[in-house]
Amino acid sequence: MPRYYFDHNATTPLHPEVASAMAALLGAAPAAGLGFGNPSSIHWAGREARRLVEDARESLARLIAVDPGEIVFTSGGTEADNLAILGAAASGRLRGRHAVAASFEHPAVLGAYRKLAADGWDITWVDPDANGVVQAEAVEGSLRPDTALVSVMAANNETGAVQPVAAIGRLLRGRGILFHCDGVQALGKLAEVRPREWRADYLALSAHKINGPKGVGALYVRKGAPMQGLTLGGPQERESRGGTENVLGIVGFGKAVEVWTRFGAQERARLAVLRDALAAALLARIPDLVVNSALAPRIPNTLNVTLPGCKGDLMVMGLDMREAAVSAGSACASGSVKFSHVLLAMGKGKDAAASSLRFSLGLGNTESEIGPLAEHVARVAASVRGM
Ligand code: PLP
Repeated sequence: MPRYYFDHNATTPLHPEVASAMAALLGAAPAAGLGFGNPSSIHWAGREARRLVEDARESLARLIAVDPGEIVFTSGGTEADNLAILGAAASGRLRGRHAVAASFEHPAVLGAYRKLAADGWDITWVDPDANGVVQAEAVEGSLRPDTALVSVMAANNETGAVQPVAAIGRLLRGRGILFHCDGVQALGKLAEVRPREWRADYLALSAHKINGPKGVGALYVRKGAPMQGLTLGGPQERESRGGTENVLGIVGFGKAVEVWTRFGAQERARLAVLRDALAAALLARIPDLVVNSALAPRIPNTLNVTLPGCKGDLMVMGLDMREAAVSAGSACASGSVKFSHVLLAMGKGKDAAASSLRFSLGLGNTESEIGPLAEHVARVAASVRGM
């Protein structure tokens, strides 16, 4: 049976060029000097590893139009989000202990703010509108004289809805409020990821969403923005993250960035066509299907739908039996249904929030998969409804 992988917002396979770049480092004989050294060492082996790390930093900095010195490599998007929020708070340079965050952020952001709340911070959660977009006016209405930090993601991982981060950054300008943006799902999928234009002070990124390796990411920290590293140790990464750099992962990240820089425009256009074809193919078979965030600008690879009467986790399991990998915003955890916090925040009822499916496309998906996948979805939906 053919296999379908439509869960690229969860993770992506390595691009072959990334795999080759990483393989070149694996098993390199020490004499070859291929990057096994410690980038902090001053001898030849260290210098070689340092060069690889700095090349990757430059590629990433070029893609998002910032200075290489503003990039801090991390263990992934989660650590980057944590570092932005908790590292800014720990700097002791913030003007208050009130923060504003979108209620549908990734758990990496929600968790960091819950930690701040436990430490005595006041957090105001801003809901998106029915299309899954956080309006700049809603953020503005939540600001207080003691607001120190605002977090709004660039694109939502469940719906793909693109957020008006430039407008939000503009309204924060000159007010002494720091702006953190989770750019994990935006990198590669938005034509321009531009923290400077967005006036973001922090931007979190991850390699494995763009065909790079898992376990490596980066945080853009605007030069001069408050930052107190959370990993205590050596002075690596501008003293923001102690610990020997993950050279292998960083090399893979750098190569993934290069690949997306080269063919991103073409791939985004291709994915948007496939995504819309999938929506049409599903609607033709399931007329009561609802496309979530249909009226919002969306990253081109993401399609989130509600299938009335079809529990998301049953759909995922049924599709998995047909070798089709997709994801549901809701999950059944030890007998009780956990609803998609994103769809609930958009004002969808619990039924809709429990019956959503996310298809996220990427490298390797082709037009020939669309019809058969839609057919599988329709058949599984019919059997779930008949249960
Ligand atoms: N932020 C968003 C929006 C994400 O989608 C993810 C991954 O699912 C993360 C953060 C976490 O990234 P990582 O898996 O690299 O820790």
